Amino acid sequence: MRVPLLDLSEQYRALEEPIREAIDDVLMSHRFILGPKGEAFEKAICAYCKAPHAVGVSSGTDALLAILMALGIGRGDAVITTPYTFLATAGCIARVGATPLFVDIDPATYNISPAALETFLEKECEAVGEDVVFPRAKHGKLAASPTGDGSLRIRAIVPVHLFGLCCEMEPIHQISEDYQLDVIEDAAQAIGAEYPFGGKTARAGAMGEAGFFSFYPSKNLGAAGDAGMILCRDDQLARQMRIFRDQGMDPRYYHGVIGGNFRLDEIQAAILAVKLPHLESWSVARRAAADFYGTEFARLGLTEKIVLPAESYRERGLTNHHIYHQYVIRAPMRDALREHLAEREIETAIYYPLGLHEQECFAYLGYKKGDFPETERAARETLALPIYPEISRDAQRCVVGAIAEFLE
Ligand SMILES: *Cc1c(COP(=O)(O)O)cnc(C)c1O
Repeated sequence: MRVPLLDLSEQYRALEEPIREAIDDVLMSHRFILGPKGEAFEKAICAYCKAPHAVGVSSGTDALLAILMALGIGRGDAVITTPYTFLATAGCIARVGATPLFVDIDPATYNISPAALETFLEKECEAVGEDVVFPRAKHGKLAASPTGDGSLRIRAIVPVHLFGLCCEMEPIHQISEDYQLDVIEDAAQAIGAEYPFGGKTARAGAMGEAGFFSFYPSKNLGAAGDAGMILCRDDQLARQMRIFRDQGMDPRYYHGVIGGNFRLDEIQAAILAVKLPHLESWSVARRAAADFYGTEFARLGLTEKIVLPAESYRERGLTNHHIYHQYVIRAPMRDALREHLAEREIETAIYYPLGLHEQECFAYLGYKKGDFPETERAARETLALPIYPEISRDAQRCVVGAIAEFLE
């Protein structure tokens, strides 16, 4: 049985009519960029995520760029994030002229480890007045600093809610308070995911100073092209984001700052607004599929041989304790297993085969192999299995059966 990693065809079949109508509306309105569809979608996202402000943009990547620009993060600044993420997270930090600093992951969740973050800040950084400074010259680890004195001012932390599971935001928030850092959530893979935050249930993207989603077609809420969304809580910051997404223009043709073209298309917003009301039921279906994988792996006695995804907040009374953007296992002889599955027409993926600290484009940062052992181990051992709301139990049995056959 052929099992694709992701199949969007059923979702489209179910929504074809309203999606086509929404596209027609836009075509007939001749408003293609930043119009009423985008505004309505922003409001719907605010309500869904319990966030005060949402600003529609052209992609998840551009969302992070706009956030960093609006926070005034640039040369001489550093931003802490995880090396076990998609390139864009650290890429945007570098593109605004700041330096990405990496902190290793928790091997159970694959998310940035709050304990490692705390240790990093205690050991590697010093407080100079109000600022937290990373004295990289002292360690001789990273390239020469643009400020000339060999130090970098640490401004923010970007936790990434990888695979649809929220980072431990409570300790991260505490650390950010202690060190006066902004928290920017990379919620590209986690729209709708919940976390027990400050005695309430909060949604991914709405817990930090700012956060963002990607609507890349394969994300849980996918556009028919590129699109993204910024969330933030401060009115003034939201205003800045709107200015930065449109060439730094305010009023028209007067540019106080240099922004970018990070604007959201009306057609994408219209399609996303049709899909958003279904997102909750898709998350439920993804979780049911994840539960079924768990049951099957247990039934075949494989839970000693492979590691299933952690469900850290399952017992905390949250609905979306995990939204399973990906269902990722740790397996022995991962590459051979992947080959074995491919021979049986079962698609899998590796997120990610190489930590960002080992990527060629970040060689200038001066990190080396061995710096982040848990990231490197995850890169060697993890495998993403097919998951999407409509996946059939037969397809899943086929995946688990093929894994059992390999592990025998
Ligand atoms: C998809 C993704 C992004 C980038 O989003 P785009 O919309 O593709 O620009 C950023 N971070 C993570 C973790 C992602 O998965």
